Amino acid sequence: MDNCIFCKIVRGDIPCRKVYDDGDLLAFHDINPVAKVHFMLIPKLHLGSLMDANESHTALLGKMLLLAPKLAKEQGLNNGFRTIINTGKGGGQEVYHLHIHIIGGNIPPMVRQD
Ligand code: 5GP
Ligand code: ZN
Repeated sequence: MDNCIFCKIVRGDIPCRKVYDDGDLLAFHDINPVAKVHFMLIPKLHLGSLMDANESHTALLGKMLLLAPKLAKEQGLNNGFRTIINTGKGGGQEVYHLHIHIIGGNIPPMVRQD
């Protein structure tokens, strides 16, 4: 995809602070972190969002989920972390290339307890 920011990062046209790289997946730090640790895990394949995934992507999605805790630990998140996938306009998605946010370090509870 010519105009996709994350495809440009995959191609090396836009720099990123890399966390992980293999044939299928890339992880890099978010340019605008919301917590002490905040990085993104993406497939190199352009998929607009989770709504564009189908059965042919089962292994790829599984690989992403299984990699997330390994990378989180490597980034120092030994006590756990939060994964977020914003999907579509209703989900607040801004970049239309599927990505898992992996966040941790100093995050509040997701749902207020009061
Ligand atoms: P979304 O709302 O689509 O789930 O999140 C998109 C995320 O991509 C945001 O957290 C934003 O900070 C991040 N982002 C947008 N452009 C770039 C970029 O060029 N480089 C990096 N590293 N992150 C980006
Ligand atoms: Zn893309």
